Amino acid sequence: MNSTYPQRISFSDAQTIIDDVAAANRLGVERVPLARSLNRVLAEDIIATVTLPNFDNAAMDGYALRAEDLNEYAKTGFEIIGEQFAGPPKGFVIEKGQCVRITTGAMLPEGTDTIAIKEDSSEEQGSVKFHAPVKFGSNIRRAGEDVAIDDNIAKAGQVLKAARISLLAAVGLHDVACATRPTVAIFTSGDELQAPGQPLQAGQIYDSNRVLLQNLLIAEGLEPVAWPVLPDDPARIETALRDAAFSFDVVITCGGVSAGEKDYLPAFLEQHGQIHFWKVRMKPGMPLLFGQVGKTLFLGLPGNPVSVLATFLSLGRRLLDGLQGRAEPRSLLRAQLSQSITKQHARLEFMRGDLHIDNQGMISVTPNAATGSHRLRAAAESNALIMLPEGEGNIAAGAMMRVLPYGRWLS
Ligand code: AMP
Ligand code: MG
Repeated sequence: MNSTYPQRISFSDAQTIIDDVAAANRLGVERVPLARSLNRVLAEDIIATVTLPNFDNAAMDGYALRAEDLNEYAKTGFEIIGEQFAGPPKGFVIEKGQCVRITTGAMLPEGTDTIAIKEDSSEEQGSVKFHAPVKFGSNIRRAGEDVAIDDNIAKAGQVLKAARISLLAAVGLHDVACATRPTVAIFTSGDELQAPGQPLQAGQIYDSNRVLLQNLLIAEGLEPVAWPVLPDDPARIETALRDAAFSFDVVITCGGVSAGEKDYLPAFLEQHGQIHFWKVRMKPGMPLLFGQVGKTLFLGLPGNPVSVLATFLSLGRRLLDGLQGRAEPRSLLRAQLSQSITKQHARLEFMRGDLHIDNQGMISVTPNAATGSHRLRAAAESNALIMLPEGEGNIAAGAMMRVLPYGRWLS
């Protein structure tokens, strides 16, 4: 195999290549109703064409009046000429010594400039007195104080969350332009794999990566398609992957990317497309392969379950984000290491650990001693990857470490 592509690259070089390839293969844009836009990547800037609040309105239940009348009428009583609820204005025009009973969100009646709150009032026979001082202009929400016309209230590349989506609804949008979601096919591979639920023959193991990848992708809001397991047979692999290359944005395979005799994936990519890189100096996940056939991007994850988890969370998600033009980085937390670690190799390591927030809000992480990339149970009993930087040596308890939570903590 010729080696004109980057090999055994650093993790940060892998990130850069993934970012560049994703940017060159950005997916299209589609309009999505707000109600279905949660966690989608916005593909347009949103410029407000209305103000928020839309008009001056009452911030509290109370009485709308003119502040200049307060000295004279606060103690003797304002005449109540009617009630203004949230909704269409009733057209009151108030005169000296008059007020309008008003509820939160209702438009201010013409001529009024202050809301005196209900709690500090006593009402009697069509008139109301106030037993606490009322300040000019109090309890009014001003038109435009939250959003002015032409404000840029959301930017392309942001991830749509419930609060942001509701802001878009508040300015009257029904749908927004979002990056299309990548279509993703999953292939697990290996002659040893058996589907869970079937009896195991000698030498077989259950395919645990298939459901792992399915759920990791579903957690990203995607609807992956999982193929039947590929045998270690170059002809069968070629047929299935060429087929997928015409039908999906991204193909994720697992297994068959090391340099063993039965590892056919690198050769497939070289023959039918191109390799962007092969092997990253990370642990686990070193044999990671990234390439392309036509417009379809191929991410070849190593077969060990913990490698699948670490490579998907650290680099696979980045590829999916980049394809959608996501500009907000994933949250990386810093947590205090609760036990020392001895690192005996130079590669960047994603060690499994248990992230814990104490009752003071401090975040600590306890490394899991079972570091082998086949130790699925240790990974399942953890909730985050601890990033141990490149280089050998001891890391003392108490050190602040970067950690990558499995799931969404902040975003
Ligand atoms: P490979 O990358 O194909 O050399 O596989 C590395 C290790 O991961 C081997 O022990 C495989 O048996 C195991 N493995 C590969 N694919 C899967 C899978 N889908 N589920 C569970 N283990 C797997
Ligand atoms: Mg294999």
